[in-house]
Amino acid sequence: DALTGYNNRHQFEKRLKETTASSKRQNRPLCCIMSDIDYFKHVNDTYGHAVGDCVLKTIAKTIKKELREEDIASRYGGEEFIFLLPHTKLDEAIVVAERLRKKVEKKKINIEEYNIKDVKEISVTISIGVSEYNKNDKNPENLYKNADSALYKAKETGRNKVIVYQ
Ligand code: GH3
Ligand code: MG
Ligand code: MG
Repeated sequence: DALTGYNNRHQFEKRLKETTASSKRQNRPLCCIMSDIDYFKHVNDTYGHAVGDCVLKTIAKTIKKELREEDIASRYGGEEFIFLLPHTKLDEAIVVAERLRKKVEKKKINIEEYNIKDVKEISVTISIGVSEYNKNDKNPENLYKNADSALYKAKETGRNKVIVYQ
């Protein structure tokens, strides 16, 4: 993806097939973290689309720094990211997700170059859904669909939180 340097949606689909297949073959765990920026439309509406892009780029970079080399980061849609964590159990993925959430919350995004009166930095929060791959599942897509449904719950119950699919 041009803005974030993450995999795009098409590349994600391919990596999803690969990682679920190898998780099954090696009998090793695999988890999925799905994140979505809270009230991102408000950022665009208040500061403009260029600042929105800057936020996306900064958050993508902030999260990437927290991940391991083998983790797979993708931009699924506008401000929605998906991370595949091979060789990671659910309890470990929850710890990672919580760390990502906190890092993003603390991150000060410098927007001085956009010359917005009196605003030098802004911050945003993310909501997160976490799921673990079920090797008996015929459909690998359920891995991120489950994360998405947990993410939906995180939004529904207040945002800036991690919800686990179970
Ligand atoms: P919620 O907390 O429920 O997630 O609210 P939200 O405002 O983040 O969600 P919504 O889906 O209503 O808005 C997402 C916004 O993201 C709308 C769209 O204009 C913006 N967006 C999507 N892709 C891009 C992009 O590449 N750049 C910028 N600047 N904005 C984008
Ligand atoms: Mg959003
Ligand atoms: Mg969204």
